Amino acid sequence: MIRPMRHDHAGRLKRAAEESRAAGMDALIVTPSADLEYLVGYQAPPLERLTALVVRPAAEPVLVVPVLERPRAGASAAGGLIEFQAWSDGQDPFDVVGGIVGGGGTYGLTDTMWAMHVLALRDALPGSTFVLASPVMSKLRIRKDPGEIDLLAKAGHSADESFARIVQERLEGRTEQDVSRALARYLVETGHDVADFGIVGSGPNGASPHHEAGPRVIQPGETVVLDFGGRAAGYFSDLTRTVSVGEPSGEAKEVHEIVREAQEAAFRAAGPGVPAQEVDRAARAVITEAGYGDAFIHRTGHGIGLEVHELPYIVEGNAQPLEPGMCFSIEPGIYLGGRFGVRIEDQVAVTVDGAIRLNNAPRDLAVVG
Ligand code: ZN
Ligand code: ZN
Ligand code: ZN
Repeated sequence: MIRPMRHDHAGRLKRAAEESRAAGMDALIVTPSADLEYLVGYQAPPLERLTALVVRPAAEPVLVVPVLERPRAGASAAGGLIEFQAWSDGQDPFDVVGGIVGGGGTYGLTDTMWAMHVLALRDALPGSTFVLASPVMSKLRIRKDPGEIDLLAKAGHSADESFARIVQERLEGRTEQDVSRALARYLVETGHDVADFGIVGSGPNGASPHHEAGPRVIQPGETVVLDFGGRAAGYFSDLTRTVSVGEPSGEAKEVHEIVREAQEAAFRAAGPGVPAQEVDRAARAVITEAGYGDAFIHRTGHGIGLEVHELPYIVEGNAQPLEPGMCFSIEPGIYLGGRFGVRIEDQVAVTVDGAIRLNNAPRDLAVVG
């Protein structure tokens, strides 16, 4: 297991308060989400009963929590760090939040807050303006500190090891589901707390980037896209490699090589000060040049951390300059509908003098049995 580490929750709360003030907010209201976990280390279940962290620029943070969830919340890093206000069934938790923030202000709400909670807050806080919390929260979360990068690297290493195990095995004659289950087991055996997803796209299924592993039996001569990951000590892994079952066709070899070069070009393009879209352009230029531009049907990457897809997105139109501490995927692909697909994905971290890879599984086309 990858050991969890102590994060500087007090510092994060302080920054969240400062940034919310700078953004003109009177409070952040944070319901169960990666934001809550980031701020106070509480991985709360999303429930109909309201749990909400209230962060204000000029007052101490308060966690409003159902009384029956209080022991669980208290056992997390939030216990001893912040004040709790427990509410009982029969009480109105939205009035409790109203009593803390006062109403009539501007409040930043967790992006993924349930509509039933948003609308109840709107009723409990008349005359208020509600905005998304993400402009504040992403400022904090988008740059990982060295401890977070270390956890992402450890999760990445565990994914690499899982890949090393699967390529020792025979894939021919197995179902995609069977291979997916094996990958999930290896992720846990090599350090993950939980496997989260395991795409196995064999033959024509590889041409669908988010194909789920299904009952299809893997045939000799096919390529298979393996895209899998999970959570370790809170942080995600997400690795893709494409393998060939037996000798690859000339076309599969060629397409794989183009994707490998695109992945490499994007990695070389990444660094501090570089607009995110330039990394996408670097990958896309290689694929377009080779004549497969129309077959690269998604952005080049996504940020990773407490969520498997988060900011920054590596996509045309995102001119945000990359900064040291940003972590994201580089995962170009070529998808030939009805035939096969190839994708190669690593997670990377931006450093002061470039980028480093958080995955190091070999990127050449592995031939498996
Ligand atoms: Zn994806
Ligand atoms: Zn992936
Ligand atoms: Zn990904």
